[in-house]
This record gives sequence, C-alpha cells and structure tokens, in this order.
Amino acid sequence: MRIAVVGTGYVGLVTGTCFAEVGIDVTCIDIDEQKIENLKKGILPIYEPGLKEMVLRNTQKERLSFSTDLASSIQGCGCEAAFIAVGTPPGEDGSADLKYVLAVAREIGRNMTDYMVVVTKSTVPVGTAQKVRQAIEEELEARGADIDFDVASNPEFLKEGAAIEDFLKPDRIVVGVASERAEKVMNKLYKPFLMNGHPLIFMDIPSAEMTKYAANAMLATKISFMNDIANLCEIMGADVNMVRKGIGSDARIGNKFIYPGIGYGGSCFPKDVKALIRTAAENGYRMRVLQSVEEVNESQKEVLFNKIDTHFKGDLAGRTFALWGLSFKPKTDDMREAPSLVIIQKLLERGAKVRAYDPVAMEEARRVLGETIEYGKDEYEALIDADALLLVTEWPEFRSPNFNVVSKLMKERVVFDGRNIYDAADLREKGFTYYGIGLKQKE
Ligand code: NAD
Repeated sequence: MRIAVVGTGYVGLVTGTCFAEVGIDVTCIDIDEQKIENLKKGILPIYEPGLKEMVLRNTQKERLSFSTDLASSIQGCGCEAAFIAVGTPPGEDGSADLKYVLAVAREIGRNMTDYMVVVTKSTVPVGTAQKVRQAIEEELEARGADIDFDVASNPEFLKEGAAIEDFLKPDRIVVGVASERAEKVMNKLYKPFLMNGHPLIFMDIPSAEMTKYAANAMLATKISFMNDIANLCEIMGADVNMVRKGIGSDARIGNKFIYPGIGYGGSCFPKDVKALIRTAAENGYRMRVLQSVEEVNESQKEVLFNKIDTHFKGDLAGRTFALWGLSFKPKTDDMREAPSLVIIQKLLERGAKVRAYDPVAMEEARRVLGETIEYGKDEYEALIDADALLLVTEWPEFRSPNFNVVSKLMKERVVFDGRNIYDAADLREKGFTYYGIGLKQKE
C-alpha cells in the first residue's frame, strides 16, 4: 500500500513513520523546506522517544520518504490515502483555524489523479470533513476532472512523550467513514495495529470528529476537577494525595489522570477545550462545565507563583529561582502553553531571576524565551545560589536528586513542588521548607 501524510509535525511524522514501520510505503510532506531537508538527512524537528531510530530505519528501507511536493506524492503512484495532519491552531475567537487543513484539501483536489481516501487526522470540529469534501470537489470541478474520492475522519489520540507506543499499540482507533469503499481502505491500513485486540471503531464522520474533542475535554475536566479538589484540601487541612488514592480505587473513577498539579498545557487540551466551547456557542449551546474547566486551569497555572510570593512575603526582586522542567510535560520538547511560561513571566515581572534546566526542551525554550532567563548545564548547576527550587515538569531524572548536594548548592533550602513528586516529610526532615499542591501545611 502507498499513502501520503501531509504535515510533518508531532502527529504527521509519528503517523507516517509508524505506517512505514508496518510495511506501508509512506511519503511525508511538509511546506517547511528546511524541515524536509533536515529529515532527509536524518535530523528530526521534534523530540519523541524512539522516533529517530524508527525514522532512520524506515528511510533506509526506502519505505519512508520526505518531500515538499504534494502533487508527485499522490499522482499516478497508487496512493490509496492522503492523511491531513497539519496544525489547527485556535483563531482569535477560540475556534479551530481550518486554513491549513483546507489549503491541503484544495491542493489535493488540484492534483489527484485516481480514487483515494482523504483522511483528516488533525483535530477538527464537526463538519470539517464536509468542508474538505467541498474544497476538493470545487478544485476537481475547476479543472473539469471527474475523479471519485472519499473523505474520512481519523482523529489521533497519541500522547507526546509516548507517541510511538500509542500509535503502534493504540487503546482504540476511531475512524469516521461514509462509504464501504473508504472503510475497506482504512481497515486494510490499520489491520497491522490490531494484533493485540485493540478495537478499530468505525462510525459516522461527525461522531468521529466529536469523539476527539470529547476525549480531550474529559481529560482536561479530570485535571481541573482534581486541581479544584486539591486547592480545597489545602484550605481544609486535608491531603489530596490521600484523597486521590481514596477515590482512585473506585473502579468507576479510576486512578489515572487524577493527579493535581499546576494546570494543563500543551498544544491540545487548551485549544481543544476552547474550540469545543466555541463550536457549542456558535450553535446556541453553552458548555458550562468546560467553561469552568478553563477558568480553573488558568488560575491553577498561577498557584505555584502565589505560593512563592507568599513565602517570600512579596520580596522577589533580585532573587534567583532554579526551575526544573520547561516542557509542558515530561519526555517532550513541546513548550506550547507550558505552565512554566506563566511562572517564568510572573517571576521576571517581579524582578526575579530564573535559572532553568530541562533534559530536552532547552533549545525550544531558548527559541521562545531567548536570554530572558539563564539556562543551567544540568539540574544541579541551575541550583547554584538559588533562593528556591521550583519543580515544574516531572521528568524522571528529577524524581530522586541527591538532596545533600541540592542543599549545599542552594542559598535557601526551599522547594516548591508543582507536581507533588517529593515526599514532604522527608524533605522537611532534611531541613527544607517544602510546598506541594493540595497538601497539608506543616503542623
Ligand atoms: P505541528 O505544528 O507539530 O505540525 C504541523 C505541520 O504541518 C508543520 O510542520 C507545518 O509546517 C505543516 N504544514 C502546515 N501547512 C501545511 C501545508 N499546506 N502543507 C504541508 N504541510 C503543512 O502540529 P501537531 O502537533 O502535529 O498537530 C497536528 C494536528 O494534530 C492538530 O490538529 C492537533 O490538534 C492534532 N493532534 C496533535 C497531537 C499532539 O500531541 N501534538 C495529538 C493528537 C492530535
């Protein structure tokens, strides 16, 4: 089988590479010439565990190639499906901006020569597949071509940091189709991923489009709910870690995704929650739960800063803060909507200095923050003469630092743990002042 994947970011590159891994011939296309040139040389635009090795292996086997030329990747070469995996950033009103998706659809319409399934993999609102179909039809009509095609919706559920595993061994694959022919093609493509009983769920296209938003909105809701409970625990003298264990053992609730922290970030939850609220509003409905989810998240991003401000009694100017973890979550270099950015901005506004370290997101952070902060060579260097340590992203390497060394390097022994990864009692015993999220204050 041969396919094209248009958009070579986190989703497109992982999708294309994983399809190649199971023996499908894949061309990954992007308009970013530099990105494609680099990929041809084996230089990846993103960090994702295991991805580089897989890209190199499949490129060598000539199952995976990279191009800026969409036309030659779909014309007369037996290409059975074209996946659209370009960005859908939020527009000014919060709705998903479809200009990249529709630009690709038009380009496909201008260039296709044979039947194919045009699959939307980007996260798009209900009704987008219909717009994609129209865009293609208009282009076909404009050039007087009578070519049969189908559209399909195949939302992606991969998690950055575990994207390969998620794609190869998915909890489920959701595909929205409107014809048997499209279902056959999609079934053939995904068959190799169903070995371990993972379900391939076919449904109508609007339901598939909605499924992705509902999934992300539910996950964001769990996070904001737990953060709300954590804040109340702190006020009432309860310990959210205990409460989490207490509720997580109820199978109806489950123990995953109920960890409190400093708010969700990344390229998906914030924009998808906004887009769903917007879609509802445009159709005369108010998503009351999601509006609160967003509101809680915005204030949660400031919780760590507020604790810092209170501890230092507002006297932050001239102080140095060591910040561990810049990416919005571990095992990725993605800084989009990262809570670290909010904390850094608030500290800088108050005249404080920030010295940060992240295992892989330093380059990306430099691109976003420039030299407004200092960057440590490693987590220990970031601590030298610091007034406090802020644990922002729970990278595994931050979980068990040598606290004797930490204590010697820092000016003051204060830890603000935004992810509750340290043992409060243990740190207090070692002489640190410790703050977590939703924990009992020191008695
Ligand atoms: P990204 O920004 O990393 O990549 C998008 C790529 O598309 C870029 O390389 C860009 O140059 C390219 N592009 C834009 N216009 C193009 C065009 N006309 N032709 C060819 N290439 C073009 O985005 P991403 O994080 O991979 O997300 C893509 C989509 O998948 C979004 O809708 C997102 O919501 C969704 N999604 C993302 C994730 C995730 O974890 N990142 C997970 C599931 C779904």
